[in-house]
Amino acid sequence: MTLRVAIVGSGPAGIYTAEALTKQSEGPVEVDVLERLPTPYGLVRYGVAPDHTSIKSIAGYLQRVLETPGVRFLGGLELGSDVSAGDLLSCYDAVVYCTGAMVDRRLGVPGEDLPGSVAATDFVNWYCGHPDVPPETFSLDAEEIVVIGVGNVAVDVVRIMAKTADELRGTDVPEEVLERLAASRVKRIHMVGRRGAEHAKFTLKELRELGDLLNADVLTFPDEVEVGDLTALSRQVRGNVDVLRSWSSRPPADRPRRLEVRFWLRPVEILGVSHVEGVRLERTRLEDGRVTGTGEFETIPADMVMRSVGYQSVALPGVPFDSASMTVPNVAGKVSDRQFVAGWLKRGPTGVIGTNKSDAAETVRTLLAEAVPGTATARLDDLLNARGVCAVTYKDWLSIEAAEAELAAGLKRGERVKLVGRDAMLTACGRVARRASEAPEAPSS
Ligand code: NAP
Repeated sequence: MTLRVAIVGSGPAGIYTAEALTKQSEGPVEVDVLERLPTPYGLVRYGVAPDHTSIKSIAGYLQRVLETPGVRFLGGLELGSDVSAGDLLSCYDAVVYCTGAMVDRRLGVPGEDLPGSVAATDFVNWYCGHPDVPPETFSLDAEEIVVIGVGNVAVDVVRIMAKTADELRGTDVPEEVLERLAASRVKRIHMVGRRGAEHAKFTLKELRELGDLLNADVLTFPDEVEVGDLTALSRQVRGNVDVLRSWSSRPPADRPRRLEVRFWLRPVEILGVSHVEGVRLERTRLEDGRVTGTGEFETIPADMVMRSVGYQSVALPGVPFDSASMTVPNVAGKVSDRQFVAGWLKRGPTGVIGTNKSDAAETVRTLLAEAVPGTATARLDDLLNARGVCAVTYKDWLSIEAAEAELAAGLKRGERVKLVGRDAMLTACGRVARRASEAPEAPSS
């Protein structure tokens, strides 16, 4: 008998889970990968920076998994409004939740919600053309910007803001976003870490790219990147510190933009009355390994503050959630009877894309030890038909891809230019966008 599994979320964690299920040898399996967007690949499409083309090429690997016999992509289905967790348990022998971490973590300081204080996660979604963050969401009217956090997302947003629009023309950035980047007035960017250079979360390869920017001078302050004895540090951290130190003595080359990478400063307030005017920061030191304020303050003027302090998962309707760790409680991927979890929703937003492969493999091992083929009593297709819900198929997705390639050719840009908005995507695959008045009735459980 065939084991039928639903995977909710088609990012790397979801598709690596599908791959692990199809590669096991315990018995036949059918996998449906459900996705709320009309498009697959999650953060590979809407999180990886457009100029990181080699990381984006992971989509080719994920595509081969979706094309494996026994795997189906069902896009445009939202858990909660189109199908419930209870529906999935009646239609599948096992359900694996892989919805990642979709929202930003909060700073918890006064002024955080002032106009001009924005989440890096939204800005990333914007330049990646996410249908929930339309092009008009951002315009770069600000001349001076503070980015809080020194992880790889902060490096991504800083690099995209520091580059010229021309440097991004060959990428898949939506045309409307490219126009807004071309009109950018950004002159000065401050990227601020609350601990030292040796504690920064960004990786060496990503950091080095900042030093190669053609349009921006990059600098650090000597006393902030002085680390002392480096021998006890990992190679990666030593590399970061070496690069950051070298920038403290690099003479500026009068490039149009300037990036200052700052350390030992924590935000205590985002300043402004009706709009962001600056950030008040407190100098810090470590006491017993903990960040402590020194009582010495500095204000950096800014027209925009970008909070880049990590992603977090959101609770899914009908699925247990631990609001302290912001993950789904699990033991080796098992949540409860026939419900499983993988990826950032399971372990928090850490690691590179490949980390999700071993994470998914663990969940699939747990699932195979417990799930019983033939437990499911209903069929999702019947349920969707009865509700008048029509999922976006893999073939539809290929039509969206073809339209994006055609758009790029018409604009004389790279291989692909992203379509903006769900309606454009549904039109590209010959569907009429569903209007709110035609929405199906909400499921009961
Ligand atoms: P991250 O790596 O966890 O970095 C978060 C940063 O925010 C850290 O510098 C952290 O400082 C700081 N922070 C947290 N709370 C703060 C607060 N209250 N005040 C001030 N600073 C605060 O998160 P991320 O940059 O969002 O990246 C998420 C994951 O995606 C990471 O695994 C990352 O490597 C991955 N990613 C990879 C790439 C790539 O490979 N190219 C690109 C983008 C993202 P502390 O260390 O002091 O907490």
